[in-house]
Amino acid sequence: MRALQYRTIGAAPEIVEIETPEPGPGEVRIRVTAAGACHSDSFIMGLNEEQYIYGLPLTLGHEGAGIVDKLGEGVTGVEVGEAVAVYGPQGCGRCVQCAQGKENYCERAAELGIRPPGLGAPGAMAEYLVVPDARFLLPLGDLDPVEHVALTDAGLTPYHAIKMSLPKLVPGTTAVVIGAGGLGHVAIQLLRALSPATVVALDVSQDKLRLATEVGAHHVFPSDAEAAERVKELTGGRGAAAVFDFVAIQPTIDAGHAMLAVEGDQVLVGVGAGAVPAGLLAAPYDSTVRAPYWGSRAELFEVFELARAGLVKIETERFSLDEAPEAYRRLHEGTLRGRAVVVP
Ligand code: NAD
Ligand code: ZN
Ligand code: ZN
Repeated sequence: MRALQYRTIGAAPEIVEIETPEPGPGEVRIRVTAAGACHSDSFIMGLNEEQYIYGLPLTLGHEGAGIVDKLGEGVTGVEVGEAVAVYGPQGCGRCVQCAQGKENYCERAAELGIRPPGLGAPGAMAEYLVVPDARFLLPLGDLDPVEHVALTDAGLTPYHAIKMSLPKLVPGTTAVVIGAGGLGHVAIQLLRALSPATVVALDVSQDKLRLATEVGAHHVFPSDAEAAERVKELTGGRGAAAVFDFVAIQPTIDAGHAMLAVEGDQVLVGVGAGAVPAGLLAAPYDSTVRAPYWGSRAELFEVFELARAGLVKIETERFSLDEAPEAYRRLHEGTLRGRAVVVP
């Protein structure tokens, strides 16, 4: 089969011909119908030899959808021909976190060497993908895989991040989204669907700010040194009840901190590796900094229900497998509208 692999540190990913994987006992093979490209893929391909821990060659793609194609020995509960989306942050299935469906916080994944597809295990940017267990397959029904595959990360991750802060987003409050890209443009829609808060989007790109307005942001501002002041002004000096930072480099963390309200949540989703300001007295009283990771299996069902209800829609740009390196180039240069989805 054909696959998109990251093979050499620092080089662009390549299309290669590799053996089609066979599902072992308990495993399920899907024929991939869609795979999303995430900034996290760009991030890991930017790491140097000492930092890179995902194995080579690595078939990319941690957002995947497909048609069940072959069942390993003993697999029940899923039918060949069924349309499915893949839950990526796979856990052991047995620890107390996994028991609650929070496999993204599995206590044993690291120790057992369990890695998400495309982030250690072979990913979805290939004609076929083997999934270790049928519980990682969520029924897609008649939802179009290309338009919905990114819900598995670009939908699920902001959903989980926002859900925890909903009790604070009461009428009269303001929520800020920093970075209106793949995750951020979904975050704006989720905030509009789930809360009465005023939604402000910040980005460095005019095109992304336009997209932010189109998907429901009440206000958009350039993400610059004045952004915190503008949010303060807009909120009558109170600041934002929650700041969802999909960039998390030092300037956005500092701005988020400066615009946060008393009892506010600063939620760092981006992997920009900026540092949180130290010093209790410098922070608004009772404010919180959180660093959520992906989301639970139950939350993935909830995100798909929101899509079925027409409350979230991913803007997608479609690429063939041959064009996948180009999709990553566009992601890297920041010129995509919403999410790039590869159709093998
Ligand atoms: P993306 O490239 O699609 O979007 C990033 C957006 O941020 C773009 O619109 C870009 O213009 C904007 N941006 C860049 N610099 C900015 C700045 N200084 N201020 C404001 N906006 C700025 O990326 P994505 O796929 O949406 O991913 C967003 C981030 O979330 C990445 O860092 C990714 O690695 C991370 N991520 C984290 C998790 C998690 O579980 N924590 C999951 C998925 C992705
Ligand atoms: Zn991702
Ligand atoms: Zn577990």
